[in-house]
Amino acid sequence: MSFHEVAARLDDLKDECVDFLARICSIPALGPENDGTGEMEKYKVVKEAVVALGPDRIEEVHAPDDRVPDGLRPNLLAVFNGRDTSRTLWILSHIDVVPPGELKLWEHDPFQPHVQNGFLYGRGVEDNGQAIAASIFAVRAVKETCGFGLNVGLALVSDEECGSRYGLDYVLTERPDMFRPEDLILVPDAGNDQGDHIEIAEKHLLQVRFTVLGKQAHASRPDQAVNSLRAVSHLVVEVDRVLAETFTERNPFFNPPTSTFEPTRKDANVPNVNTIPGEDVVYFDCRILPEVDLSRVMELMEQVAAGIGERFGAGVRVEGHMRVEAPEPTPADSAVVRALAQAVQEVFGVQARPHGIGGQTVASFFRKRGLPAAVWEKQLQMAHAPNERVSIENLVGNARVFAKMMI
Ligand SMILES: [Zn+2]
Repeated sequence: MSFHEVAARLDDLKDECVDFLARICSIPALGPENDGTGEMEKYKVVKEAVVALGPDRIEEVHAPDDRVPDGLRPNLLAVFNGRDTSRTLWILSHIDVVPPGELKLWEHDPFQPHVQNGFLYGRGVEDNGQAIAASIFAVRAVKETCGFGLNVGLALVSDEECGSRYGLDYVLTERPDMFRPEDLILVPDAGNDQGDHIEIAEKHLLQVRFTVLGKQAHASRPDQAVNSLRAVSHLVVEVDRVLAETFTERNPFFNPPTSTFEPTRKDANVPNVNTIPGEDVVYFDCRILPEVDLSRVMELMEQVAAGIGERFGAGVRVEGHMRVEAPEPTPADSAVVRALAQAVQEVFGVQARPHGIGGQTVASFFRKRGLPAAVWEKQLQMAHAPNERVSIENLVGNARVFAKMMI
């Protein structure tokens, strides 16, 4: 049996795969943060499809959550034994979706998926339904033809869109025995329309709040005031300059290849024009290369802030708003990256290369625990957008890539 037979079987299953994806995406799976009732209803349909494949082992790792009617956020791990049982290829997808947003922007009901010109439209069809359907149908095609070369695991989790506390993080805490460093872990939850982008690394995230305290007064009496807006304006310019001049490291895995330090939020100060403000608050959002020490960044920010405070006679407070240290990247030559690149080459005829990104992905929960995970999918980058869609060609192509890695 060759890969061609598996690919042919996937072609036969194409319509069934699209129907399945449409069916699961007709059931909203919104977390309580998004005023939803959780994932249970959609989960039951997904689980039924997985059980029908006859896995050798099935584990439900539901996280208790009394904010949803069932009191549980469902998570499923299903393993299919291969000829070599020493390693498992895991494919992780998430069941939950984000809300449709402004309904006026949708041409059709987001929860009544429909096919048009080779695309399936609906909320959650790409993020992350495409991965659920492609992985389930890849398992089916391989099982019905040549069988698995290594163990194959399907991980279907909740709560990805709101932090994974009841999803992957919970699963890895409760069942660390299910995943091993020698496993190949694939997270098809981001990518591009060429399919040549394998995400293996993340930057650190550091968000910092600067509070400048001056003295409020009438705009005609600056002699009685300490103008916090003037001080904070200089502060932003100075922090911007000093950080950019100091942290000049480049890492070609990332785009952009440098650390970035962006002033973002500015809280409102006085409501009227004829008052000199006495308090201003600004935030920086920093995406910092993993090789840079975050405490050096904080120290430098504090130094600049102290200098500005002295120069303008204002008080300046520097506080961490959010700090997420990037885990060790997945090695670019790890088994999952190599197998994936090979399968992508064979199916799509493109050379996929490892990259890093500025944001945090669900893969970081694996990486934090020393488990090598790669994020890849050929997709239209429609996540969270109105009129979200998948190309049926990509859906089947991705299933072929997964199947190729399974045999
Ligand atoms: Zn997603």
